[in-house]
Amino acid sequence: MPETVGYDEMVRMLRGAAEKVATQHERLSQLDAAIGDGDHGTAMRKAMRLLAKAVGGHRSRDLDGMLSEVAWAVLGAGGGATGPLLGTFFLGMAEAAQGRASLDVPALAGGFEHALAAVRRQTKAEPGDKTMLDALMPAVEAVRASAEAGKTPPAALADAADAAERGAEATTDMQARLGRAAKLGERSVGTADPGATSVALMFRGFADALASGAT
Ligand code: ADP
Ligand code: MG
Repeated sequence: MPETVGYDEMVRMLRGAAEKVATQHERLSQLDAAIGDGDHGTAMRKAMRLLAKAVGGHRSRDLDGMLSEVAWAVLGAGGGATGPLLGTFFLGMAEAAQGRASLDVPALAGGFEHALAAVRRQTKAEPGDKTMLDALMPAVEAVRASAEAGKTPPAALADAADAAERGAEATTDMQARLGRAAKLGERSVGTADPGATSVALMFRGFADALASGAT
């Protein structure tokens, strides 16, 4: 069991997230077709391809430099609402990782919290508005709880993925108050939020990648 997330573990996590999202891009577009404009799977697939390319192209093995390249790749993917918010999230992670070779679970929790705060400065979304935050916030809270419980990184990320999936699932019954889906009013109820579903997939990708690397 790795006690910390270093460069190699972060590479695995990011690739895991990209692969998980890629396998589900059609479902993401279907959700977005129901309550948005149908482009979310395509946008996420593009963002994750650029993310994976940035990971593969990084040579100097510095954690914050790699995360920052990943962030700029995701920001450069353009697209709708999610690219900029996810890019901001990775930029926040890069800032939190500055000068560190690895992150233990408390540092990982701090990094995710810093990244979440950066995202929250970019959006008015609050929990319950049926956005990606409804998966991201519980995931970050789960990592903090894992830090307090003294869990290992694979266990912390597995808890985060569970929490993100529960959060994404819970958006099904919510009425969207922000983004394109808000225009549908009550008709947005009954479909899971695509952005929250993506975040849950990313965290499941992180978790599976760390679990499979554990010996
Ligand atoms: P667009 O809505 O521009 O087509 P995407 O389809 O890529 O962008 O992403 C839609 C997702 O973006 C939504 O499911 C929601 O999770 C998220 N989202 C939209 N607007 C906001 C917002 N203001 N704050 C946070 N997340 C948002
Ligand atoms: Mg869309």
